[in-house]
Amino acid sequence: RLELRQVRKRFGPLEVLAGVSLNVAAGEFVSILGPSGAGKSTLFQLLTGAEKAEGEMLFDGAPLDDHGSRFAFMPQRDALMPWRRILDNATLGLEVQGVPRRAARERVAPLFAEFGLAGFERAWPAELSGGMRQRAALLRTVVQERDMLLLDEPFGALDALTRAAMQRWLEAMWRRHHWTALLITHDVREAVLLSDRIYVFSARPARIVSEIKVPLPRPRTADASVAREAAV
Ligand code: ATP
Ligand code: MG
Repeated sequence: RLELRQVRKRFGPLEVLAGVSLNVAAGEFVSILGPSGAGKSTLFQLLTGAEKAEGEMLFDGAPLDDHGSRFAFMPQRDALMPWRRILDNATLGLEVQGVPRRAARERVAPLFAEFGLAGFERAWPAELSGGMRQRAALLRTVVQERDMLLLDEPFGALDALTRAAMQRWLEAMWRRHHWTALLITHDVREAVLLSDRIYVFSARPARIVSEIKVPLPRPRTADASVAREAAV
């Protein structure tokens, strides 16, 4: 369980986060909605330890000091390295964790089919469609088996059709794997489709202006056919 209490952040004179308190329980899928420039990505920079925060950040009741070991992070931009083949991009997260490249490849390779990427192991990122690139970046993120996923606008760069397909696909994958996730998005429909709860940020300096419990009951059983259908 992740718990943030009155987290604040300024960059010099610029106040970005004005005291954010939120929590994410194990197995929960929580989204953050908010205007551009509010400070959403900055919050992830604090969680991953890239920037220092004021306030309390707790994981399972203990201060979050060893950030790296808790989160699998998919950044908003530049998720794939263009000079590495898809297979070698997919292993990057594990390699950062200290898994040797060869062992990392063995762990990642069987997942290519599940992610709709079978046959593209040796392709370069530029040879894939936008949706496939996002799935490859997600594959690299989820294979790390951390406690929690941090997804920063994973479908932001996609056209509407691919985006809708990817949202259904992520929902099916989440149901099957019971991930704990915190998702940043601009897309209200995406947040409602995917989340148990939604936090709405104000414009900068961000505070939480609303917390919404999504009332739609969702089946939590595996449904491989949905995943296949959505894997376009
Ligand atoms: P978007 O929805 O467009 O991705 P966001 O909510 O993710 O926006 P952030 O990227 O968190 O917004 O940026 C919030 C503010 O903090 C912006 O004004 C940005 O310029 C500023 N900012 C972010 N990182 C830094 C930094 N390292 N140094 C100085 N200012 C920064
Ligand atoms: Mg952002």
